[in-house]
Amino acid sequence: MDWILFVLVFYFGSCLASFLILVGMRVPRGESIVFPPSHCEACGHRLNATELFPILSFLWQKGRCRQCGISLPSLYFVLELSGGLSFCFIIVSFATDPDTSLALFLIWGFGIVLTASDVTSFLLPNSIMRGFFLSVLLFQFHSNRSLFFSSLSSGAGVFVLLYILYLLHPEGLGGGDVKLCGVLGVLLGYQATLFVIFLASLSGLAFSLRHRRTAARTTPLPFGPFLILGSFLTVALESVLLK
Ligand SMILES: [Zn+2]
Repeated sequence: MDWILFVLVFYFGSCLASFLILVGMRVPRGESIVFPPSHCEACGHRLNATELFPILSFLWQKGRCRQCGISLPSLYFVLELSGGLSFCFIIVSFATDPDTSLALFLIWGFGIVLTASDVTSFLLPNSIMRGFFLSVLLFQFHSNRSLFFSSLSSGAGVFVLLYILYLLHPEGLGGGDVKLCGVLGVLLGYQATLFVIFLASLSGLAFSLRHRRTAARTTPLPFGPFLILGSFLTVALESVLLK
């Protein structure tokens, strides 16, 4: 791919990611995703056109609000950058494989919203989860109609298994995580989902040990982002290995 096109696709992906982050931050608080327009959470300063450019405005302002100087959450920068890169990755690597691209775009889009929501509010909102579930059902009905009922039973199996774990150890797993695993079960099948849960637990533990101080490790870590990352990598890897 021509590098100019690559940069344009990357930047388009990070602009979309930027909007999805806003959705993920506002939905759990019951706020509109349109009004008020983007503003600094601390001083209310309304962002002008140049401050709305993903990644670039963050670098230009050295990660601070132009008005009050408060540090902006690095979540914006990390998600916009990784959102743009993974958007490019899907388009470049799976252009000839519409089913895998569509599955990855579903995980990508809903994943960014759910990650922003889980990191800022410790919630995976039901409204977003319903949208994800319906989209996954439509995708499976369209792409794997012959396996539709087996996908449904995979999702139900994973959901019941994790729900039992949740009842036994409510402090270890959130209700939203249980629903997310159920949706992933429909999308990926039960074997791949169990692998994703294993991957997410390992990476969550590694992240906690590496980046959190001992005192902070007793507070819950949002598990949704690790499940999303694990399922994105599993779908991509599965498609490469099975071809
Ligand atoms: Zn401010």
